[in-house]
Amino acid sequence: MANPIKHYRDIEFDYGRCEQVSPMLRRVIAENPTPFTFRGTGTYIIGKGNVAVVDPGPDLPNHVDAIFSALRGETITHILITHTHSDHSPATRRIKAEVDVPAYGYGPHGQYGPKVEEGPDYEFTPDIFLKDGDVVKGDGWTVEAVHTPGHTSNHLCFALKEEKALLSGDHIMGWSTTVVSPPDGDMHAYVDSLRKIHGRDEDIIWPTHGPPITDPKSYVSQLIEHRAERENEILTCLKNDIGQIPDMVEVIYANVPQRLHRAAGRSVYAHLIHMVKTNRVACDGQPTPESHYRLP
Ligand SMILES: [Zn+2]
Repeated sequence: MANPIKHYRDIEFDYGRCEQVSPMLRRVIAENPTPFTFRGTGTYIIGKGNVAVVDPGPDLPNHVDAIFSALRGETITHILITHTHSDHSPATRRIKAEVDVPAYGYGPHGQYGPKVEEGPDYEFTPDIFLKDGDVVKGDGWTVEAVHTPGHTSNHLCFALKEEKALLSGDHIMGWSTTVVSPPDGDMHAYVDSLRKIHGRDEDIIWPTHGPPITDPKSYVSQLIEHRAERENEILTCLKNDIGQIPDMVEVIYANVPQRLHRAAGRSVYAHLIHMVKTNRVACDGQPTPESHYRLP
């Protein structure tokens, strides 16, 4: 698929600097670059004067200081949370320690599971629970919550009506495909959530990690296509009697650095759960990371 990274790497920026990225959106990038966060978490600020902060970010005092200094003389009226990973929601607590502002989200983190990328934030609970289609109105801005389970079960995207823009959190990333790690991550739900976004009419997607996506429909089609290709690669492994996840990862992710293979294994596992459920793959008992998989 198209690789937007190259362009993005050329852009100069400083951590902590607040960048006006569109008429109604500002972004502050946290200094938490990892193999999963790219440059770091992009915290978005919606509006001017009375604003919403979307995903305050990781528990880093410097990042929260940068948000507050960008908002000097303004008021935070809403905190919006896309999902409960440690690079998205924990700084909510630091903001709420300073200002009395409600946090909106789908719910607390779903199922417990192994830490793969940025770990879950089990402490976060929204003050106000949002469900799919709920609309939040602020001073000059309107946001629709779009439930997009898959990366996590509680993942929301936020559609900014005035700009026909979608803040996609980690559901759609600007630089790589997202990690889907069972049990909370669900491949079937993820692909359905991609189709849901494909059916919408936003002109631009602003992900938490990576550059904006200006051709949402074709980009999201490529993501869906990419998952279908992965399933074909898994089927090819099974045809060649490669039936265990670590061996499949060695084949399918041969060109991916070793340090990402554990996360890749979780994604393959997520695919296999989905493929067993839809009777395209068989295994004895419930699918596990250690199961021997075969064609039915
Ligand atoms: Zn995440």
